[in-house]
Amino acid sequence: MKEIKLFIGGDFKTSEKSYNSENPANGETVAKVYLPTEKDIDFAVDAAEAAFYSDEWRNTDQMKRADILEAISNKMKERKDELTALEVSDSGSSLRKAKADVHSAASYFKVLAGQLRKFQFEQKDEAASRAGFSTNYRMFEPVGVCAQVIPWNVPLVMAAWKIGPVIASGCTTVLKTAQETPVTAGILAEIIAESGLPKGVVNIITGGAKEGERLLSNPKVKKVSFTGSTQVGRKIMEQAGKSLQKLSLELGGKSANIVLKDADLSIAVDGALYAFLYHSGQICSSGTRLFVDEAIYPEFKEALVARIKEVKVGLPSDPTTGYGPVISKKQFESIMNYIEISKKEGAKLLSGGNRVPGADFEKGYFIEPTLFEVTPDNTIFNEEIFGPVLAITPFKTEEEAIKLANKSVFGLAGAVWSKDHAHAKSVAKRLEAGTVWINEYHLLNPGMPFGGYKQSGLNREMGEEGLKAYLEVKHLWVSDCDERAKKPWFDAIF
Ligand code: NAD
Repeated sequence: MKEIKLFIGGDFKTSEKSYNSENPANGETVAKVYLPTEKDIDFAVDAAEAAFYSDEWRNTDQMKRADILEAISNKMKERKDELTALEVSDSGSSLRKAKADVHSAASYFKVLAGQLRKFQFEQKDEAASRAGFSTNYRMFEPVGVCAQVIPWNVPLVMAAWKIGPVIASGCTTVLKTAQETPVTAGILAEIIAESGLPKGVVNIITGGAKEGERLLSNPKVKKVSFTGSTQVGRKIMEQAGKSLQKLSLELGGKSANIVLKDADLSIAVDGALYAFLYHSGQICSSGTRLFVDEAIYPEFKEALVARIKEVKVGLPSDPTTGYGPVISKKQFESIMNYIEISKKEGAKLLSGGNRVPGADFEKGYFIEPTLFEVTPDNTIFNEEIFGPVLAITPFKTEEEAIKLANKSVFGLAGAVWSKDHAHAKSVAKRLEAGTVWINEYHLLNPGMPFGGYKQSGLNREMGEEGLKAYLEVKHLWVSDCDERAKKPWFDAIF
C-alpha cells in the first residue's frame, strides 16, 4: 500500500500515529498516512527555522531559486500520470479535472520561476533619492518561517500556491495538508526532495484542527498562510493577533453570477452550470448565487433545468465523467442538511435535491445537481454550502442585481454575462469581489492575483501580489560620507 510519511528536514519519517486515506467514490483505501505528534510538529518548525537561518539557503540566490521552481515543475510533469490518478482516488476529483489540476500546479511553479527571474529585490527609488543628500532603496526580504494550512478540495493546486512563493521569496515553511486529502502533496514532497532545494526549506505534514492549531501557534512562525473556511479563518486571525504574525487568508465564498438581458444565452446557460457544478460545487469561487434579468428569466430557467438533467454523474476514474462525488460523509450530510433547510424555508426546488440513485453510487457520496429558486432571506442565499447547490433569483434592474450580488459577507469572485463588454465591465467594477469574469468562469491566470474582498480573505495568492505577501519591505537610506560631512546635524542637540 502507498505510504505518505512526514517530510521534515528533508527526511521522510513515520510516526506512532497513522490512518488510511479513503476514496470518496467507493470508500477504498488510497494510502496509509502518518500523522504528526506534537513533537513532530515542533520539530518541523525547528527544521524550517534552522533552514531559514542557514548560509546554504541565504546564499541560494533568486536565479538558483527560480531553477529549483522550474525543476519542481518539470518533475511534476514527469510524474503527471501518477499525480493525476492519486488526485482522482484521494479527492474524488474527476479524471478531467485532476489532469487540469496537475497541469495547473506544475505550470504555476514554472510561471513563478519566470516572475522570480525578473523580480527586483532591490529597487532604487529615483524620485525619493536626492543627489548629494541620499540614495533610497526598497529592499524586499523574506518574512521568515511560515506555517501554511490548506483545505481538502483542490489539494495539489493549493499546495503549489503555498510552497511556490515560499521558495521564490527565500522563506521556509511547514505546510499542513487536510487530513482528507494528503496524498498528492506527499508525492510533491518526494519531488521537492529531489529538486535541489536545501533540506528543511519545505516541510510537509498532515492532520486536522488539532495539528493545525499546534503548528500555527508556534512562536517561531512569522507568517501564517491559511486557506479554508471563513469560520476557521476568524479563529486563526485571532490567534495570529497574539504575536502579530503576518497573515494571508483565502476563505469561503458565495459568488454572484449575473446574467444581463443582453447575454449570449448559448454560453451563459452552460457557464452558469459550470460555475456551480465544477468539482461537484466544492470550489471556493463557485458561482452559487445566480441572478438573471427577469426579461429572460423564464427562458433561461427552463434551459438551465434542461441542461442540469443532462449532467452525467459518474465515477471519477471514468474519463467521460464530468460530475462526481463530494469529499466525505460529513460533507454529504452537511449539504443534504442545507437542502432540507431550503425546502422547509419554502425555497422552490427546481431540480435535484436527492442522493444519486444506482448501485454504482451506493458506496460513495453522490448528490444530484440541485437548483432552488430563492429570495435573499433564504439560508442558502447567504451561507456557503460547498456542494452542488445553486440558488437562482430574478432581478428587475441592474441596480437591484448589483445590490443583491453585494449582499453577502463574502467577496471572493463573481461573473457578468453580456454581449456588451463595456456595459458588463461597468457592472463588474461595482461588484465587491476579488475576481470577476465577464462571459467566463473559474479560469485563473497564475500571473494575476487571486483572493477575496470582505470575509473571503486577506492578501492575495499568485501574481506579483502573491510573491510580495511573503516579503517584508525595508527602506534603505544611504548617505555619502563626504556629502554628509559638509552638512551640520541639527544645531539644537549640540
Ligand atoms: P476548514 O476551514 O474546515 O479546514 C481547512 C484546513 O484548516 C484543514 O487543513 C483543517 O485541518 C485546518 N483546520 C481546521 N481547524 C483549524 C484550526 N482551528 N487551526 C488550524 N487549522 C485548522 O475548511 P475545509 O472544509 O477543509 O475547506 C473548505 C473551505 O475552504 C470552504 O469554505 C472553501 O470556500 C474554502 N476554500 C477557500 C479557497 C480560497 O482560495 N479562497 C480555496 C479552497 C477552499
